[in-house]
Amino acid sequence: MSYDLLVIGGGINGAGIARDAAGRGLSVLLVERGDLAAATSSASSKLIHGGLRYLEQFEFRLVAEALAEREILLRIAGHLAWPARFVMPHLPGLRPRWAIRLGLFLYDHLARRSLLPGSHAVRLDAPPYSSGLKTQFRHGFVYSDCRVDDARLVVANAVDAAERGARILVGTECLLARRDGVLWHAALSGGVEVRARAIVNAAGPWVKDVLNQRLGQPSRDAVRLVKGSHIVLPRLYAGEHAFILQNDDRRVVFMIPWEEHFTLVGTTDIPVAAPDHAEATQDEVDYLCRAVNRYLERPVAP
Ligand SMILES: Cc1cc2nc3c(=O)[nH]c(=O)nc-3n(C[C@H](O)[C@H](O)[C@H](O)COP(=O)(O)OP(=O)(O)OC[C@H]3O[C@@H](n4cnc5c(N)ncnc54)[C@H](O)[C@@H]3O)c2cc1C
Repeated sequence: MSYDLLVIGGGINGAGIARDAAGRGLSVLLVERGDLAAATSSASSKLIHGGLRYLEQFEFRLVAEALAEREILLRIAGHLAWPARFVMPHLPGLRPRWAIRLGLFLYDHLARRSLLPGSHAVRLDAPPYSSGLKTQFRHGFVYSDCRVDDARLVVANAVDAAERGARILVGTECLLARRDGVLWHAALSGGVEVRARAIVNAAGPWVKDVLNQRLGQPSRDAVRLVKGSHIVLPRLYAGEHAFILQNDDRRVVFMIPWEEHFTLVGTTDIPVAAPDHAEATQDEVDYLCRAVNRYLERPVAP
């Protein structure tokens, strides 16, 4: 079989690109060696956010684009992405109030926002945001972002791509591909051979392996792999809002309601050598517990 586009990888990038390309009338084959969203795209923090913390790195354009996409996603996939309020307690000695206010003002205004309420200061010593917190926290800020069912969003993209004519093959690995003239010849697991005018390498953390080994394209570029671990704890506070907690290493850690009875806490940010077997270590669990215990009335223990 011959296609315009062969997409390697069935995470959010591969599925989204397949949908987009099929929607433009291209013939598309997507191959995923495991299942859709089996890797990074089902292990995210499940947020659709502009990335408030990237403002500190002056990434205004990146944040503006992400905020605009957030609005689009709410419109086209409102059953999978939903608005949430995020509370940032103010902690003397960490980011000053004026800096948080400035950041949130930019966050509110960098892109058109018609579906979500803006940010404002809140009291943390009274409901609804006092739940779970130490009484010493009195002031904070609340702003809007979205939560998402990350794995279902991948599947929804793949289904829509298929409805637009794309072929989606799970349990199918791209073993090798070589270019011959204007066409790529690819060998897939199961003894299947296909041709494609172009290949999209959407292999996530395996992007370099696919580029160098499977596509035979040597490159000196190093890919910096990091793992970010989450832990799931029995519900730490009442309410559907999330918390964005400042840590003393200048990072932030999220507490997000998880299912009905749990709270998702994350993440860490640890360099790893290889993408396989990424698991949370005891040190990471300790780090996350320490980060939330600074704020929680009832501390959690690893
Ligand atoms: C801890 C953490 C939290 C995050 N939180 C958020 C968040 O809240 N919001 C957000 O928007 N983003 C978040 N991200 C980022 C987001 O999750 C990733 O950017 C995204 O999931 C990457 O998707 P992907 O499709 O590129 O890769 P993946 O989802 O990893 O998909 C790559 C796929 O390629 C397949 N593959 C590899 N080699 C082959 C081959 N030879 N043949 C066939 N298939 C192959 C793999 O099996 C895999 O399924 C987070 C990331 C991390 C690590």
